[in-house]
Amino acid sequence: MKEIIKLSDVVVDYYRNGNTVRAVAGVDLTLNSGEILGLVGESGCGKSTLGKAIVGILQPSQGEITFDGQVVKKLTRGQRPSHFRNLQMIFQDPYGSLNPRRKIGVQIADGLLVAGMSKKNALAKAEDLLEKVGLPRAAISRFPHQFSGGQRQRISIARALAASPTAIIADEPISALDTSSQAQVANLLVKLVEEFKMGMIFVSHDLSIVRRISDRVAVMYLGKIVEIGTVDQIWNNPSHPYTKALISAIPHADGNSFMPKDLPGDVPNPLSPPTGCRFHPRCQLAKPDCRISEPRLVRLSDNRDVACVLQNAGTSPNSISLD
Ligand code: ADP
Ligand code: MG
Repeated sequence: MKEIIKLSDVVVDYYRNGNTVRAVAGVDLTLNSGEILGLVGESGCGKSTLGKAIVGILQPSQGEITFDGQVVKKLTRGQRPSHFRNLQMIFQDPYGSLNPRRKIGVQIADGLLVAGMSKKNALAKAEDLLEKVGLPRAAISRFPHQFSGGQRQRISIARALAASPTAIIADEPISALDTSSQAQVANLLVKLVEEFKMGMIFVSHDLSIVRRISDRVAVMYLGKIVEIGTVDQIWNNPSHPYTKALISAIPHADGNSFMPKDLPGDVPNPLSPPTGCRFHPRCQLAKPDCRISEPRLVRLSDNRDVACVLQNAGTSPNSISLD
């Protein structure tokens, strides 16, 4: 399998009122072509920030992102636009990302026009793309408000596809949709990833959909990946204590987030993250050393990396007394 995205120790900071918020605190991750990588973690753990760094909306302050074999920070200013066209991001709110005053067709065709296609061909391609996402070809001459939320998200997907991307970062693409559109749009993305041989990072708090559509899943906590594995490994044999809490999570009443089960306390503030393992204040298995040394992501078995000293030492957490 070809590796399309590779992140090495990527750090992304926000600067606010003289403080540094380290939203992504050293992430190693790969995405292969044809693969769907689910990315899960509580609200505020840095998923969107990571996605924006991958597609070039934000610049990492440390580390390296490689896309299609090219180190992104080594690209010249001239190379960047065509490079980033191959990487498209789909956001939660399709209305916010579509211009309400422009017809759908031209909005989808924009990227093709920029790439030098004639207007006639670009609009014909826009019609083809609308069909691909399950909308009528005639939709090209309508405006965004004439569509439902699910249809607007399909339009955003068509617009992303117009660039013939190699990879898509879908950041909560179904969270704002009604229940029946959620499954349809998720299924559409799965179909398109396969048809166009792309890779996709799928961010969602809907763990049942992540489980159903992903090949591998990365679990993020306070700016770090704490575990990555295949769907089977993550659900049938989770290693990290946070992953265990997460997969038994129950949906929050607002429908827009989830509450991991049996997790004491709140998510710490990224302005002052805990020392040692970032998860230790909420970990029922934490040992004194967990307050001091920060565990690295270590290969546990095929396809599976875990950042937890209890796991990495080969110790079963069940044999460790709770204190
Ligand atoms: P997620 O997508 O997992 O909910 P985000 O990437 O949106 O997480 O946020 C990660 C952290 O970065 C949070 O603590 C959030 O408050 C902070 N953050 C996000 N955007 C900004 C910003 N523009 N300025 C400062 N802090 C931000
Ligand atoms: Mg987000």
